Amino acid sequence: MKMYFLIMAILLSLFGCNAIESTSSSKGYYLSRWLWNKKEISVCFLRNPTMQDQERAIVKRLVDSTWHQHIDLRFTGWGYCDSKDADITIDMDNAIGGSSFVGSSSVGNKPSMYLQNLRNPSSRNIGYYEFGIVHEFGHALGIIHEHQRPDRPADEEIAGCRNGQTIHINGETFKEYDPNSIMNYCKQPYLPILSAGDIATIKHMYPRDN
Ligand SMILES: [Zn+2]
Repeated sequence: MKMYFLIMAILLSLFGCNAIESTSSSKGYYLSRWLWNKKEISVCFLRNPTMQDQERAIVKRLVDSTWHQHIDLRFTGWGYCDSKDADITIDMDNAIGGSSFVGSSSVGNKPSMYLQNLRNPSSRNIGYYEFGIVHEFGHALGIIHEHQRPDRPADEEIAGCRNGQTIHINGETFKEYDPNSIMNYCKQPYLPILSAGDIATIKHMYPRDN
């Protein structure tokens, strides 16, 4: 089972992704069995010589400005793990890239999420790395890749942005395919901005109390 979820963790390899723009609206693709059933999800960072307080603050700011705007669920803590346990355990490693366990399957996995180090962005625009952080927290909320939906349009195969990305058949789709989702490798440009479909999806997954 663990290998299955490691596969579901899905490395964020965005190389070679071409631009696909669309004006169509809403959608999402997620695993309902891994939705969190509590409102506060603790987060901690493994100590890493390449990561400083600045990186932790950037990650929290990006989550505050995106997912936290639309749901009551809160990622909390954001300190170093040290001897403490947390629901989400984060490490940074540029060699590994971005990845995350899906939703509550994160618990007990250390790390449950890899992020790339923002201080060494190589040749890529900072927006690419910030996109990656918001994307991985989408996985941590239970969302899987939009471009791996069974109803993804065939014409995007030509663009090459999902080469090797097979269809997942065991998720729950919400409305139509969303080419602009932050969970879609085919989204362009890579910026840390939720689509209207991402917002509709997360509100559907975690409805507010009132
Ligand atoms: Zn991903």
